[in-house]
Amino acid sequence: MADRLAEVRLAPYTTLRLGGPARAFVEARSPDEIVGIVAGADREGEAVLVLGGGSNLVVSDDGFDGLAVHVSSEGIDVAGDGERVVITVQAGEDWDALVARCVDEGWSGVECLSGIPGRVGSTPIQNVGAYGQEVAQTIVGVRVYDRTTGRTRDLTPAECGFAYRHSAFKDDPGRHVVLAVTYALHRSELSGPIAYKELAVRLGVKLGDRVPLAQARAAVLDLRRGKGMVLDSGDPDTRSAGSFFTNPILTAAQAADLGRRAPGHPRWEMPDGSGAVKVPAAWLIENAGFPKGYEKGAVRISTKHTLALTNPTGTASTRDLLALAREVRDGVHEKFGVLLVNEPVFVGVSL
Ligand SMILES: Cc1cc2nc3c(=O)[nH]c(=O)nc-3n(C[C@H](O)[C@H](O)[C@H](O)COP(=O)(O)OP(=O)(O)OC[C@H]3O[C@@H](n4cnc5c(N)ncnc54)[C@H](O)[C@@H]3O)c2cc1C
Repeated sequence: MADRLAEVRLAPYTTLRLGGPARAFVEARSPDEIVGIVAGADREGEAVLVLGGGSNLVVSDDGFDGLAVHVSSEGIDVAGDGERVVITVQAGEDWDALVARCVDEGWSGVECLSGIPGRVGSTPIQNVGAYGQEVAQTIVGVRVYDRTTGRTRDLTPAECGFAYRHSAFKDDPGRHVVLAVTYALHRSELSGPIAYKELAVRLGVKLGDRVPLAQARAAVLDLRRGKGMVLDSGDPDTRSAGSFFTNPILTAAQAADLGRRAPGHPRWEMPDGSGAVKVPAAWLIENAGFPKGYEKGAVRISTKHTLALTNPTGTASTRDLLALAREVRDGVHEKFGVLLVNEPVFVGVSL
């Protein structure tokens, strides 16, 4: 059985490099270990924090009063015939290493998700997405340990309830521990249709065109690096949790209110015909007076990306980060009447 350590600081396990100690910490290296450890903690009534790459977490300075289970299981099974490849990947595998392998093997479907930090088991939690792709497009099954029934189950995509940066896992936090994820990809040297304008421009193609997989990956990594969105110990702007706020989706009435306050603001009509619109959070933040590089003590908005709040020198506290997040959220609300919502998962803190 895996070693159980006491009082382990969580900061080094997060990309923000923030967070106090977990009362106990264990490295779980196989699905059986994950289930055994979590089931044991549940029997003892011990709180559990399932930890992947820590790239979407904001942990309290006081730490976590329970057991942090670091999911480190490995293994990739490849099946399928003809044009379809079905890969079942253990939760602890590194996501970007998986994407790199898919590109090398000629498995198309996740290439635009290059450079996203974290582990495979977390990808269904917020339906990881970028540059016109999201994992909901390729996930065909998620193997979970259900802590309410004490059973292992295979969930269908419908049961996962995927939506924009959201899933059923987020509605019922902590209930399911993801053990493995199955993705269906296409055997092809070409990417899926390019669905994101900025990427199409970078590639010099039209929306809907396909490009060689390696070209798509290189262009995405290039764009992401320019925004500080690829982890790099030499780039302080990448000491973040990625986008701190999601792009708000406004009802038709809320959109009309924003239209009166900010005529001509950028907006994307939602395709469901409800009149709802998605608004870029970065635009709201910048136009509420918070430009790139805006500092508050030891934390600052990334100099490359308005949505990333960073701990550039590694000397900040979670309290500092939340003070900046609140200032930004309140400033946007006062100016535009729109309430920004955090994307990362909060442990022991709230906005
Ligand atoms: C620089 C940077 C860029 C980013 N860019 C993007 C982007 O383009 N698109 C995007 O969608 N996200 C992005 N993110 C956010 C983040 O990388 C993703 O959300 C990622 O999937 C989180 O994975 P993780 O393993 O680090 O999860 P963690 O941060 O460890 O955990 C996140 C949540 O998932 C839960 N969890 C983790 N593993 C499991 C499991 N096996 N079972 C059940 N629950 C689990 C945790 O308890 C927690 O609630 C970015 C982050 C950074 C730092």
